[in-house]
Amino acid sequence: MFAKNLKITIAHLYPKLLNIYGDRGNIITLVNRCKWRNIEITVDSIDTGDTIDEKKYDIYFIGGGQDQQQIQVASELQKQQEKLHNAANSKAVFLAICGGYQLLGHYYQPHDAERLNGIGILDAYTVAGKKRFIGNVTAELLPHNTINGLKTLVGFENHSGLTYLQGNTKPIATIITGNGNNGTDRTEGARYKNVFGTYLHGSLLPKNPHFADFLISLALEKRYGEEIELQKLNDELELAAHNSLVNKKY
Ligand code: GLN
Repeated sequence: MFAKNLKITIAHLYPKLLNIYGDRGNIITLVNRCKWRNIEITVDSIDTGDTIDEKKYDIYFIGGGQDQQQIQVASELQKQQEKLHNAANSKAVFLAICGGYQLLGHYYQPHDAERLNGIGILDAYTVAGKKRFIGNVTAELLPHNTINGLKTLVGFENHSGLTYLQGNTKPIATIITGNGNNGTDRTEGARYKNVFGTYLHGSLLPKNPHFADFLISLALEKRYGEEIELQKLNDELELAAHNSLVNKKY
């Protein structure tokens, strides 16, 4: 029997500034996959000048963006960093895409602009490379980053930033096709506690329903203090889209 009267709250960080390549599709997926299971879900937009109530949220989402928008968001995140560290330390789930991902590390050094300080939740740093990585990505998830057995992660990358992981911040996946974090160490994304960063736009979650459910289950565990089984959904369409990319010959 599945638990009833469940609730999840999402903080969507700076959606007016960091939301390129359809990253809002990740919010739509989380909302729908909760609604289809009668899990109450609310989404608050956190915009410039807003103060985050870190006790309120189970999931934090931040999308990708160009260097210019990252400059604006970086200074906002600096003001919220203690709250966001508290959230991460209380096992809140973060999903950060590309530009947003870079700002959860220690810094992002763009090509021809001042270094942007990140908030250092992820022990990682990013420097702009000479080449832009653009294209489809397939990767194999590390075992503790997925549920119900699916091992692959698919998406689309478009970044010049090269991200390097350190310490207890580990990759979420190993690259099969594409570049991922930096095009050399075959890592994609980052995880520390329940904080996930990835270069995969697309948007990521519609074509990776297993990863979306993984994040939902972590958020429910954070809120209710126990593992909660998720009702299975008919993911025929989602998995057809997923497998079309896994099986694509590049
Ligand atoms: N501006 C950053 C880069 O080029 C992030 C880009 C993005 O979010 N897609 O690496």
